[in-house]
Amino acid sequence: MITVGILGGGQLARMLVLAGAPLGLRFVVFDPAADACAGHVAPLQVGEFDDPLALAEFATKVDVVTFDFENVPAAGAQWLAERVPVFPAPAALALAQDRLSEKTLFRQLGIPLPPFADIRSRDELAAKVAEFGLPCIVKTRRLGYDGKGQFRIREQADIDLAWQALGAQVEVTGLILEGFVAFEQELSVVAVRGRDGEFRAWPLTRNWHVDGVLSASLAPAPVAPGQHDVAIGYARQVAEHLDYVGVFALELFCRDGELLANEMAPRVHNSGHWTCEGAETSQFENHLRAVLGWPLGDTRMLGHACMLNWIGQMPAAIAVLSEPAGHWHDYGKQPRAGRKVGHATLREDTAAALADALERVGQGLGRAEQVAPVVAILRS
Ligand code: AMP
Repeated sequence: MITVGILGGGQLARMLVLAGAPLGLRFVVFDPAADACAGHVAPLQVGEFDDPLALAEFATKVDVVTFDFENVPAAGAQWLAERVPVFPAPAALALAQDRLSEKTLFRQLGIPLPPFADIRSRDELAAKVAEFGLPCIVKTRRLGYDGKGQFRIREQADIDLAWQALGAQVEVTGLILEGFVAFEQELSVVAVRGRDGEFRAWPLTRNWHVDGVLSASLAPAPVAPGQHDVAIGYARQVAEHLDYVGVFALELFCRDGELLANEMAPRVHNSGHWTCEGAETSQFENHLRAVLGWPLGDTRMLGHACMLNWIGQMPAAIAVLSEPAGHWHDYGKQPRAGRKVGHATLREDTAAALADALERVGQGLGRAEQVAPVVAILRS
């Protein structure tokens, strides 16, 4: 019997556990919070990620370690890797934790991306804004997620506001400035690489964000011929360079038909949740297969799928459950503003049937505005 340890006990760990049960796997989940939602479905060890005693106890319980949370301190991951196999490797995790390092890697690999600069002072910020032109976006180098730790600079006067909001982070997380991309669409590649280097990707996904948080994902993304292969090629280059093992997501902007890299998430990803019901093998199962050194499952998709995120609190399930192609995921979390508490996936054989189903669900839940952009694309 193999026991997989997961650092971080949120919904991603929960879905990894649910995918691993039919494979005969056992799990131990490690999280600082006693009410971490993966603890409802697997044994939970409560501890801090930088507590060597707690990590030492965790290491004795598991055969292999992976992550649901990329901001586990790299030193803790490295400490574990000296005692038990850890995938993805701590070096890949460390790179993806820092926006400056990952963007530097994209540039080195020849992957197009918006202009960016490391920022250490207010004067440097002003100089780089002048160089890149307005608008720009300042982000913390580390620990930012779901649009947190970001400030948009639309006009000159915003430079001071941005510095007031984030300047203190220079010494803590570091800061990066990026040119703002007036994109037509946001896309992601969710891909997996095995211990033996086998690489597979799910079809490109189109994503819609609200206030920096993912709201809806559609797969396959309706993109121009050729773009799909270019995007997957970028993901493959990054994975091979890092000798990456496991599932990851590469987030991309598409502007004037050109793909620009935004960031990489070194873990299973919210924009790949549709793979649970919309693909031959889900991202969760393939992540486990990869970290265990097992053959990867087929990433072929089954029809068309749309995932809708539930943020803050769960809506009533009935509108989704009464859809023949509706699938409901409640993470069992306490409601809280801005928190991802669940999602639904609708899967249909044709784009037209998916558009119809989304419209019914949008109406039934009183969330017509959430489904409208997806329906518009499916009908175009
Ligand atoms: P991130 O945390 O970098 O994924 O940013 C969250 C969201 O903010 C992205 O999904 C975009 O919608 C938006 N965003 C981030 N960076 C940029 C950028 N350079 N230009 C335009 N929009 C951006």
